[in-house]
Amino acid sequence: MLMNDQDAHLYIKGRWVVGQAGTLDNIDPANGQRIGVVSLADETQVSAALDAASGSFPAWSASNPRIRGQILKKAAALLRERLGELSEALLLEGGKTRADASGEAQRAIETLNWNGEEAPRVSGKVYSGIVDGSTRYSVPVPLGVAVAITAWNFPAVLIARKLGAALAAGCTVVLKASEFTPRTACAIVKALADAGLPEGVVNLVFGDPVTVSEQLLSSPVVKVLSFTGSTHVGKQLAGLAAKQLIRPVLELGGHAPVIAWSDADVDRVVAVTAPAKFGTAGQSCVAPTRYLVHRDLHDKLVQALVAKARSYCLGHGHEESANLGPVAHARRVRALQELVDDAVAKGASVETGGAKADLPGFFFQPTVLSGVPRDAELLSEEPFGPIATVQAFSTLDEAIELANAAPYAFAAYLFTDSMRVRNEVVSRLQASNIGVNQTAPSLPDVPLGGLGNSGYGYEGGTDGVLAYMQLRLVSQST
Ligand code: NAD
Repeated sequence: MLMNDQDAHLYIKGRWVVGQAGTLDNIDPANGQRIGVVSLADETQVSAALDAASGSFPAWSASNPRIRGQILKKAAALLRERLGELSEALLLEGGKTRADASGEAQRAIETLNWNGEEAPRVSGKVYSGIVDGSTRYSVPVPLGVAVAITAWNFPAVLIARKLGAALAAGCTVVLKASEFTPRTACAIVKALADAGLPEGVVNLVFGDPVTVSEQLLSSPVVKVLSFTGSTHVGKQLAGLAAKQLIRPVLELGGHAPVIAWSDADVDRVVAVTAPAKFGTAGQSCVAPTRYLVHRDLHDKLVQALVAKARSYCLGHGHEESANLGPVAHARRVRALQELVDDAVAKGASVETGGAKADLPGFFFQPTVLSGVPRDAELLSEEPFGPIATVQAFSTLDEAIELANAAPYAFAAYLFTDSMRVRNEVVSRLQASNIGVNQTAPSLPDVPLGGLGNSGYGYEGGTDGVLAYMQLRLVSQST
């Protein structure tokens, strides 16, 4: 098979190679058309990727963190020069609008750059105090080979978060990126290679996800697993990692509530949350899904949300007017329809949308449902699409109880000017990323991690780098 720019291949030990286990079509979800193929690794190639990561670890982990940081920053600079190319990959295979694609590409670049700056800042601690005549200090040391497995919904940012932190820490990596968004992964790995990353430090594979992840996580050289994806798969991978005592960082699903207290400005609630709700067609782990509104504001909020949902122009990212893209594939359209149908069968009302859009590709109408009963699957299963539910509450206790009712605990939003309500909600919400009168973005400089079905461990910030490191304690006497 010849390599060309439309196709995505493996990167093993510093070389681009064609996968030996066949190919999958890379599909543009906005029109269902094939835009290339992704080639898949066989067992020998996955082994070669592990060997390359393991073989390059001693030198990379011992290298000066400033040098590691410079490579990350150079890769960020190269991607800035190639912004058009990266954005186009996100638009085509990720189904993003032009604005979403460019925004994500820039966030990925910022993330690599921030971790490049952080690399030489990572430091240990000196402990004085309870032991006479002994000096004790801890030094963070890189753990070893990391396996990074990423989702398709923010393919550039997710890869940048994992590679940025792992490389800054001094770990080497086998990246198994999503087969739905392979060109994006290739663009980032290529920038790192062009920035001077030594061979073997990052290896990129695609393949049958079950087979490849089983092989990767049964290897004794792997010390860290960083996974971003669904809760269902995260639990399976946590089980595999446990067998080898591989340290897991799991960034899983979300089901974010938006609490609009009685003093909330409804137009502001909608204006602030709509980009997070409908951006990337709602396929975001921090997307607001459950609007919980004080009874007095219920009808007004439904009206405002419906008006906003109807204002979107669905279309391919190449169309200038398009500001809402497709979901990832046909299975997601069916899953969204099933969630809506189940809610309606149990008594919910469709205020707008509620069905597949009449367009080529995998579009679902921006949808608002009210009166969704508690036993509707939509309230406990992550919809991962442009669907918002609205439920009314009367008291703060009721709002908090509804917010905490989903098995996920990741992002949550609150709108109020009351300090008392803020303090109470913030302390009682089961959520780890709370936006008060604003959204809750995953910026590179802050640690972020889920609770419950949303996972565990942190990505982002210094803690995100330390996730790839072990504290070595040294106690010494003169
Ligand atoms: P997914 O779990 O289907 O896939 C994620 C990755 O795992 C992909 O690389 C995929 O190929 C691989 N995979 C799929 N099935 C597998 C299996 N059985 N065994 C091993 N690997 C497997 O998730 P997705 O559909 O790509 O992404 C959407 C999910 O990701 C949503 O649940 C979303 O909330 C979550 N997500 C979470 C965060 C966060 O920071 N918490 C960020 C983005 C996305």
